Amino acid sequence: MTNASTLKILILDDDTFMLKLLTKILAKQGYTNVSAYDNGEDALKKLDHIETHPDLILLDLNMPDMDGIEFVRYLVDRQYHGDLILVSGEDERMLKTAEKLVHAHQIPMLGYLHKPVDADKLFAMVSQSGIHNTDPSSDPKRKTYTAAELGNAIARHELVNYYQPKVSVSTGEIIGVETLVRWHHPTDGLISPDRFIAIAERCHLINDLTTVVLTEALQQAKIWQQNGLSLRVAINVSMDNLASLDFQDLVVNLVTQAGLSPQKIVLEVTESQVMGADARVPLEILSRLRLKRFHLSIDDFGTGHSSMAQLRDIPFDELKIDQGFVHRAWTDSTLRAIYDASLAMAKQLNMEVVAEGVEDQDDWKLLHETGCDLAQGNFVSKPLQAADFMNWITEWQKRVEAGLIPNLPL
Ligand code: C2E
Ligand code: CA
Ligand code: CA
Repeated sequence: MTNASTLKILILDDDTFMLKLLTKILAKQGYTNVSAYDNGEDALKKLDHIETHPDLILLDLNMPDMDGIEFVRYLVDRQYHGDLILVSGEDERMLKTAEKLVHAHQIPMLGYLHKPVDADKLFAMVSQSGIHNTDPSSDPKRKTYTAAELGNAIARHELVNYYQPKVSVSTGEIIGVETLVRWHHPTDGLISPDRFIAIAERCHLINDLTTVVLTEALQQAKIWQQNGLSLRVAINVSMDNLASLDFQDLVVNLVTQAGLSPQKIVLEVTESQVMGADARVPLEILSRLRLKRFHLSIDDFGTGHSSMAQLRDIPFDELKIDQGFVHRAWTDSTLRAIYDASLAMAKQLNMEVVAEGVEDQDDWKLLHETGCDLAQGNFVSKPLQAADFMNWITEWQKRVEAGLIPNLPL
């Protein structure tokens, strides 16, 4: 158990009465290092500073502006490794769904509490805080990198593209790939993008990073095309890439230089940072790219980042249901409800639907039963280096022919 007076607790709830009440209850038990916020933006500022970085967050779900689910996404972006307790007036089902989402993001969650809060339950949970946490700096898997290190990595070509196939659920045909960047670190090994994209975004390196990823992906697309493989190649575009109109020219120029058709390029967009008050520039860039026939895809659908407003404002061609709502949705009714709703909405808006995180036959069967267009996930293939792609195609064809992929026409 951690010492009560040193445990840094952050409370986020739009109800200021609740903030006072929780602070008071905690103080009674000696938890005095408590800061309280009534909005997500202020709370996030504290997270960005090492001195005010909390060990434990008590989070309300239902808040205007940034809700609790969205806040959790920002915690992930910031590689938050402290504990979390959800406190909410929402019903049990809602809290359970939120809990699943938090688990999917691998944030240690101590539990959830219904309002009005039972003080004993609260203490039981708070006293668990810090038990499983280790110092992030002592664990190489949690080591964080500086902007300078990442800048060097970009300059030294240590970032390498991996490609994960997207296949048709009705025919098994290989439709395209998603480009996923990794860092081949000279001493730390393979570093996943979750550990450096947010840094790139915060430290103005994201344009350089995206340029490198896009350039390499286009070269690869060209090679595949020359080998008779017509693949749609997707890249992930950060909202920060869409802050300047130069980005559009850059994409158009690179694709033209590579001699590729914009129709074969998919731009996957997630709103990974609070979108500025002025959304006109991103909107303009996306609309103009769409006019040039680039494919636009809305990523991580269902996680709260991709809002309905975006669907209304931007003519997306593709919707990707987040893996958190795909794997095991066949057996879990709450996941299934979100999966079904996302699929129905996409169909209504004439978008192609990609289910991410398809991990096994059962997941695949659900996609088939529900008429989802494309599948992506480890069941089909993990992300591959370009050199391994041709071998994978042969393997995949063998699996299809052997009847190992359910419901495909043989
Ligand atoms: P994403 O766009 O949602 O990409 C899908 C993630 O799910 C990838 O993680 C992929 O490896 C993983 N995945 C694929 N199949 C499965 C499966 O069956 N089960 C599970 N549990 N996971 C699966 P990865 O490669 O670690 O990338 C993480 C995120 O980093 C991506 O999420 C994307 O948002 C971001 N990212 C990757 N490359 C880039 C990039 O070049 N630029 C930007 N801005 N973001 C990138
Ligand atoms: Ca993506
Ligand atoms: Ca995604």
